[in-house]
Formats: sequence, C-alpha cells, structure tokens
Amino acid sequence: MKQLSVLGSTGSIGRSALEVVEAFPERYRVVALAAGRSVETLAQQVSRHRPDLVAVAGAEEKRKLEAILPAGTSVRIVTGTGGLEEAASHPKADVVVGGLVGALGLRSACAAAAAGKRLALANKEALVVAGELVLAIAKKSGAEILPVDSEHCAIHQALRSGEPAEVGRLVLTASGGPFRGRDLTTFGTITVADALAHPTWKMGPKITIDSATMMNKGLEIIEAHFLFGVPPEKIAVVVHPQSIVHSLVEFVDGSYLAQLGVNDMKFPILYALSYPQRVANDFGRLDLVALGRLDFFELEAARYPAVGLARAALSAGGGMPAVVNAANEVAVEAFLAGKISFPDIVAVVSDTASAAGRVSAPRSLEEAEEIDRRARDRAREVVKRLPVARSSVIAVQGAPV
Ligand code: MG
Repeated sequence: MKQLSVLGSTGSIGRSALEVVEAFPERYRVVALAAGRSVETLAQQVSRHRPDLVAVAGAEEKRKLEAILPAGTSVRIVTGTGGLEEAASHPKADVVVGGLVGALGLRSACAAAAAGKRLALANKEALVVAGELVLAIAKKSGAEILPVDSEHCAIHQALRSGEPAEVGRLVLTASGGPFRGRDLTTFGTITVADALAHPTWKMGPKITIDSATMMNKGLEIIEAHFLFGVPPEKIAVVVHPQSIVHSLVEFVDGSYLAQLGVNDMKFPILYALSYPQRVANDFGRLDLVALGRLDFFELEAARYPAVGLARAALSAGGGMPAVVNAANEVAVEAFLAGKISFPDIVAVVSDTASAAGRVSAPRSLEEAEEIDRRARDRAREVVKRLPVARSSVIAVQGAPV
C-alpha cells in the first residue's frame, strides 16, 4: 500500500489523482490533501478519503472547512505556505502528487524533494523556475521525480529502451491548441472563451491558455531539459493535432520510440505512482482503426512566438526561465481578467524578459522566489501600460472563468 499526499487536490490533476486512488483502493491511500480555496470540494474529498492532514490557503478556509466537515471527522487542518510544506513532506507519504499550478508550487516541490519522497510532478513551473535547485535537492535526499506531464511521461517510458548516450533527440508533440488553423490577422480578436476551448485536452484555465499560446510547450522544453538532462538543441517540437502520440525519442540508430494512449491524465498519474510496475486498468483504450490516421505538422514560429521565447530563456540560462514563467503567469491572469488581448500575453512576457537584463540562477529557494517576485512586479507594470483589450472584456462576461 502506497500512501499519497495530493497537492492541488481540487484542481484538474488532483481530481484525476483521486480517481486513480478510487480505482485502486488496495494499492493507494491518501494521507494528506492540499488545496487553496475550493473548500466544498475539499470537504467532499476529506469525507471520502479520510486523510490525516489537510492544508488550505488560510484561516478563513480552515474555519469554513471545519464548519462543513461532519462532527467527529478526525483530520488535522493546517494553513498557508507552512501547511503546504507539511503536506508535501508528510512522514507517512510515499508519493507526493504535485498538482499545483504555477511558481507557487515550487516551495512544496522542494519540501517533497528534501524529504526524499517520490514526486509525481505535474507542476512543471517548479522545474522551470528552479530546475537545477530542485534536482540538486532531490539528488541529495534520494528523492525521485517522475513526470506527470503527458509528454514527459511518454519520453520517460521511451527512454527505458536505451542508454542516455544512445539518445539522439527528444520530440515533444503539441496539439497546436485551438488556433492552429486560425487566420493570424485575427489573433487580436481572440476571446477568453475561444482560448479556453482546447480541442483535445480538458484542463484547468492556466494550462489551457498556455496551450493556446503554446507557452505550455515552451515550458515543457525547459522541463524536459531538466528532467532528462538533454540539451535544448536536441529537444524538438512537432505539431500533432490528435494528441495520441504523447511524445517520442529518436535514438542514434534512427529508431523512434513513441508512446501512444488515450488523452486522460489518469494514465500518466498511474504510471508515476506505480513505476517501475505497470498496472492493468480500465481507463480506456485506443481504437486505432477508428482513429484511422495520425497527422504531424511543422511548428509555425510566427503563430507560436512563445515557444521561441521559452527557448531563448533556456539558452540565456540563469534565472531567465523563472522570469519568463513569472511574466507569463501575470499575463495569463491579465488575459483571463479581460485586461489584455491574446497577443499581448506573449508581448508582456517578451517585454518583461528584455527589461530583466541578466539574471543569475537561483542558488536557494529564497533567491528563486525573489526572482519570481521581481519579474511579477515588472510584468504588472508592463500590463498597466497596455491598452485595455476590448474584445477580451466583452468576452469575459460570458466566459466560464
Ligand atoms: Mg503536457
């Protein structure tokens, strides 16, 4: 029986992780849950999974949760950053599912790594912001990091077919998002609802917008670089609208190993929980004949400038990936709030990165958080200088955000 701490339990990844636990009650048990403000969903999860510990955002959420939970529920409720770290390093937890979104997950990823846990990491931003630091902490404690990102889970599986020196290239697939075929001259009129309508994956709002700009793929290049120790020039991206091939590894002998599967995050989660074993499940199977074909296209740089930006940040090195990530988080939030247009997202990131100058790599968690904080402040200034995007303001009124 493996015990799990699920961080971000009310989000998309967290809910999928709990579905995996429910499918295999003889294998997995929840020992800790952490969520921010979705107290009602969290209360249901507590009643169902009976964790020892629950972490919520603050005192108000704690009060609300206590009020909803049936009398006699035995659970310790903790709050804030310290509470999150406690959940991430719970002494009974074998695996920590990192399902938080954004740089705010960095501290708990470090806590899980320092405690020597297996970290099933969906929170790619933690690696983007401080990849070297997280890896160094994990190395020291013997913690394992297993990717829950579908592309990286695919690569992790394909890499089992060869030695590191036999790897030619990693090829990340990208769906292309909802604007793959859209006229580039109309990008200024993209609404929040348009950008949230992802063609192949159902995910939370931040990653869905990142998939529309393809900043998500840019962050995934950085994530792959840190996870697999492959230099940026050996990490390629190909557009694959069906999202059935989750990614590939090209070996030096010209063999390609791809991983295919149904688009459901339960698969990479179960893989990260059960590795090196494979666990039979009834989560769905591909019907290759019904699919009929798989398409691949070149990534258009002009359509997806975010990918080039992220690559440049990785080449610049130091704290630049953290700057790009922070600016992107601020820009996505501003877009979802109707404050800026869709093309402005990348403009904000680009302007913030240019203004940052040279940024050294963070040597500690505190330094990483400082780089993140400064870049956010700078990005907010950039957002303020942009004109209010009328199209987004109109759209946001009817959008499910
Ligand atoms: Mg992904």
